[in-house]
Amino acid sequence: MSLPPTASGITIPTSYSSAIFHGSTIPFSITSLDDGHFVEVNAAFEAAFGQKREDLLGKTTVDIGLWISGESRDTLLERINLGGGMHPVTLAAVRRNGILHHYRSFSTRLDYEGKFYLFTAFIDIQDQIDAEKEARDSRNHLLQLYDTMVDGYARVGKDFRIQECNRAFREMLGYTEEEILNLTPRDITPADWHNLDIRIEQEQLLRRGYSDIYEKEQLRKDGTTFPIELQLYRCLDSTGNYDGFWGVIRDISERKRQQANIDYISYHDSLTNLPNRALLLEKLEHTLKRARHLFPATALGTQPEDGYQVALLFIDLDHFKNINDTMGHAVGDTLLQIAAGKIARVLRESDLLARIGGDEFVILLEAPVSTSATTSVANRILSLFSLPIPLPEKEVYMSTSIGISLFPKDGDDTESLIKHAELAMFQAKSEGRAVFRFYGAELGAGIMERMTLEHDLRGALQRREFVLYYQPQIALATGQLAGVEALLRWVHPARGIIAPSQFIPIAEDIGIISEIGAWVLQEACRQMDEWLVAGFKVPSMAVNISAQQFERSNLIAIVQEQLNKYHLPPDTLELEVTESILMHKTELILAALEGIKKMGVRLAIDDFGTGYSSLGYLKSLPVQRLKIDTSFVREIGIDSNDEAITRAVIALSASLGLETVAEGVERGEQEQFLRDENCQFVQGFRYSRPLPAAEIQANYARH
Ligand code: C2E
Ligand code: MG
Ligand code: MG
Repeated sequence: MSLPPTASGITIPTSYSSAIFHGSTIPFSITSLDDGHFVEVNAAFEAAFGQKREDLLGKTTVDIGLWISGESRDTLLERINLGGGMHPVTLAAVRRNGILHHYRSFSTRLDYEGKFYLFTAFIDIQDQIDAEKEARDSRNHLLQLYDTMVDGYARVGKDFRIQECNRAFREMLGYTEEEILNLTPRDITPADWHNLDIRIEQEQLLRRGYSDIYEKEQLRKDGTTFPIELQLYRCLDSTGNYDGFWGVIRDISERKRQQANIDYISYHDSLTNLPNRALLLEKLEHTLKRARHLFPATALGTQPEDGYQVALLFIDLDHFKNINDTMGHAVGDTLLQIAAGKIARVLRESDLLARIGGDEFVILLEAPVSTSATTSVANRILSLFSLPIPLPEKEVYMSTSIGISLFPKDGDDTESLIKHAELAMFQAKSEGRAVFRFYGAELGAGIMERMTLEHDLRGALQRREFVLYYQPQIALATGQLAGVEALLRWVHPARGIIAPSQFIPIAEDIGIISEIGAWVLQEACRQMDEWLVAGFKVPSMAVNISAQQFERSNLIAIVQEQLNKYHLPPDTLELEVTESILMHKTELILAALEGIKKMGVRLAIDDFGTGYSSLGYLKSLPVQRLKIDTSFVREIGIDSNDEAITRAVIALSASLGLETVAEGVERGEQEQFLRDENCQFVQGFRYSRPLPAAEIQANYARH
């Protein structure tokens, strides 16, 4: 067949068309429209499909393995028959080494001498196919890589549906791949995910290309949730238009758990598991904020109609430090736990109980709280504490004192409410303990006094405001100086000398007596040394020891250190302890007594007769002296009962081989009585008041 044919009735100059057809580097073919066999091909076609023209003519595309994808030949022909123009179809041909090579073909109908033909041009698109495959491969690689990630990843299309996601994402949410694809982000987030959040995220996403990192709750397939960190990134298509987004989620449950644990520890007391001061302050702050907001008209000092908004109960265990010191810290801890449990029993769900100090608890009662409701809470606590607490060894009684402040009447902020509740608690203590008191203007001056003293006392040691006075002890037989007792004085910068009865109980209460006591010991030993160096030999130095010194400080080590430092013979030092300390045989106390005995330091029981020591018990202790309490001596010549006690104590003491010292001897008749009963030593104003060291030296050095 000779060319050129006429395309759609347009006549092209023969030589020109033929030159284009045969000279083109694009493969062309002409096939018969009836049966599809080749009528003509060009050189480029021969080269592309690796077949000779002679071999091709008369064969069909199927014969040579030219494979047409997409629509069928029939529908293609139908389309071509209907209208002119080129019609693209994608073809693939099997090539020499068996690899498919792709072309896009464009066909059009040729009418020639009353017959129809198909003219087809083949555009090589293999590069494009290769590039697409490469992209697909690297995408698959990427997806495989994503599957190894711990973080979840999901791609959401413009249609707001999940198009792909990694293994971690599916496993975290509990879906299979089929289940999760085509879900929308809304299907996998809790209903309360604020729309506002989404809007902010989307805005950021569009503007910046990525969102902030958000913490939110993620919904699992089973309806449970877990905390995640989420970040979204914008996707753009090849033309730079918005094409959905991808999100990365990280499961932060473990971190949250750890955080919660840390929060718990820093907001709770480890002994009782109750909220601590920090949590109380936070909660109270929050409660007050809400109360002020709800009742803006509630002015400080006025009472809203439906009662007070907040009540604070400041609860302090009575004499707890004594219990702790005499029975040991383990028992003290147990008692604190029992106390916490007791107090907790009277609370409602909404109330908060915190332990804010050693034996201090605070209850926060929230609105509305009437005075009578608060009173009944306080009363219930007091009555619970009126029951004995059964400990393995014995039953103990422990009472509490409670101070109450009300918002807004007694304060507008956390600090003043707590302070005023504490003041009221002090008031309760000063009124005999085991009671409760509301804060009020009528709070005694005694409370303020105690608060100020407590405040001043804390720095007194550092400011060197303490001095020791010494009171002589006289041997009745000779009238000679047998020793001195060191008695502490606080020289307050504003108030002058303060007696120990006024500040030692406070020092014990606030737990600083051990430090002060250590100073007393060292100062007394130093004084002995100074006197000795001056040629004034004092036979014995008695130092008062508080219960806490046995429990809290290394008493033995301190005593030994001072004896060594001043080269004092141990038996010139006498430690005075009260009966009550000795009555509790805790390990610490027994160890301290053993240590005192070993060192060769003497031990005296002070204020004897006020406790309940049994004879058998006294025998087992390394004691050398009994000091008869002033209260008995005072009544000599007045009260025959006290005389009888004094007589008995002296006799008891003698029978145990102990020495007796009578304290508080002021009058001659007392001295005579004691002499008659063979009491060896006396101490009292009759002989000398407690005096500064220099005066003692001046008065007694010449004897
Ligand atoms: P205490 O150990 O029984 O001391 C005897 C107290 O009786 C002293 O009171 C003393 O001044 C007083 N006194 C002595 N003779 C007479 C008298 O004839 N008539 C009267 N009415 N009183 C007399 P002070 O110095 O006020 O000490 C009171 C308590 O404070 C002491 O009682 C002791 O328990 C304690 N104390 C004193 N110094 C210390 C110390 O350094 N450490 C410790 N832990 N407690 C101390
Ligand atoms: Mg004493
Ligand atoms: Mg005494």
